[in-house]
Amino acid sequence: MKIYNTLSRRKEEFVPLQDGQVSMYVCGPTVYNLIHIGNARPMIVFDTVRRYMEHKGYTVNYVSNFTDVDDKIIKKANEEGVDASVISERYIEECKKDMKALNVKPATVHPKATEEIDGMIEMIRTLIDKGHAYVAEDGTVYFKTRSFRDYGKLSHKNLDDLRSGGRSLLVSGEDQKQDPLDFVLWKPKKEGEPYWESPWCEGRPGWHIECSVMSKKYLGEEIDIHAGGEDLIFPHHENEIAQSEAANGREFAKYWMHNAFLNIDNRKMSKSAGNFFTVRDISEKYDLQVLRFFMLSAHYRSPLNFSAELMEAARNGLDRITGCVGNLNYLAERAAAAEMSEEEQALAQEAARYVDKFDEAMDDDMNTADAISAIFELVKFANTHADENSSRAFLAALKEEIVMLSDICGLIVEKQEEILDGQIEELIRERQEARKAKNFARADEIRELLASQGVVLEDTREGVKWKWA
Ligand code: AMP
Ligand code: ZN
Repeated sequence: MKIYNTLSRRKEEFVPLQDGQVSMYVCGPTVYNLIHIGNARPMIVFDTVRRYMEHKGYTVNYVSNFTDVDDKIIKKANEEGVDASVISERYIEECKKDMKALNVKPATVHPKATEEIDGMIEMIRTLIDKGHAYVAEDGTVYFKTRSFRDYGKLSHKNLDDLRSGGRSLLVSGEDQKQDPLDFVLWKPKKEGEPYWESPWCEGRPGWHIECSVMSKKYLGEEIDIHAGGEDLIFPHHENEIAQSEAANGREFAKYWMHNAFLNIDNRKMSKSAGNFFTVRDISEKYDLQVLRFFMLSAHYRSPLNFSAELMEAARNGLDRITGCVGNLNYLAERAAAAEMSEEEQALAQEAARYVDKFDEAMDDDMNTADAISAIFELVKFANTHADENSSRAFLAALKEEIVMLSDICGLIVEKQEEILDGQIEELIRERQEARKAKNFARADEIRELLASQGVVLEDTREGVKWKWA
């Protein structure tokens, strides 16, 4: 399996640090608003990377953070006259709903910056002790960029070029920097802002330190894959490398993966430019499976322009697959023979070629565009060879392959029974009764059924509470 590594700027053979295991960290959103479909691109892309790795037999430890302390969150909190945590909690919940609707699997861990402050203070202390950071008079702690020899290795920038553009790196209020290239690790509180105690001043962390700390805590000092949108390469990921490698004294991440932008009218979709659609907006017009299909119809490193025409094409593409699966199910219910004929066995082997084709595309730096073409070829093959005379086994084999490949893309192409919010409460009641009757097998079964749908149960003193994973 080859992956394009931003660090080396070439495709490299993927060799995990530990056999059979993949550790992956994906920078998540800042939660002050509903996510837009540009934010959804990395979520969908890297969820698909994860699913493909799992299909290959790896156990994937997938960590994705929520940045829940930030100027924009604080601004919104002040506008609404509430605590910053009210805003961030609200939008974390909303983001999880969107992820579920996009069939993005919950991460193994979704850490939040505000719950990891101790770890951040510890890493900043290490950086100061090792001479990589200093404390300014007002208590701000800066990373001394020039003290890290490899600075610029990810973004392929050199320090002198950065220095000539250094003025633009001077941010107002950060005038106590020794060098314009230095960046903030910890900053003093301002009136009306949340703050934490620290050895330097009451304040809050800079943005970059959280990912270095959470990645280390949940995945270890060295990880396989670090990922995010390409706007994060500089300065965010460059700074993460500087912090982590200076503090830990070893390589931070082996492979760096970055998705290109989702554009609209050939401009990056962003909250600040105001040219965005939220996932929620799109869900009013389309099934979100269509959005997922649209995102995967392009290679993740190619810019993708959002348009109604491409969404229509995505809808038609998805319909072709779901239509074929529906037809295979219809035929299977009415099939005459159960077992495959010899001719069918030969055809089933031929069909397996498309699975190989799919894998080849994904092995080539996760080329989902070609992988989806392989699914289409398989669909065409199924439409050509399946009919009223086919055996149930042959129809099932074709369907299973189509469903399996679609599932790697996170595309649901077979109608499933959905659990609705009302049913969740009903199932929880049934579980309580089963427990009362000491029917623990049934109680566990219900817990697992709910877990498979992303519902986590918590037994509290006030009774059972549930939330989306
Ligand atoms: P943010 O909330 O801006 O920190 O973004 C969260 C994630 O979404 C990051 O990985 C960004 O790189 C990514 N992202 C933001 N806008 C876009 C876009 N228009 N296209 C692709 N990725 C984006
Ligand atoms: Zn990050």
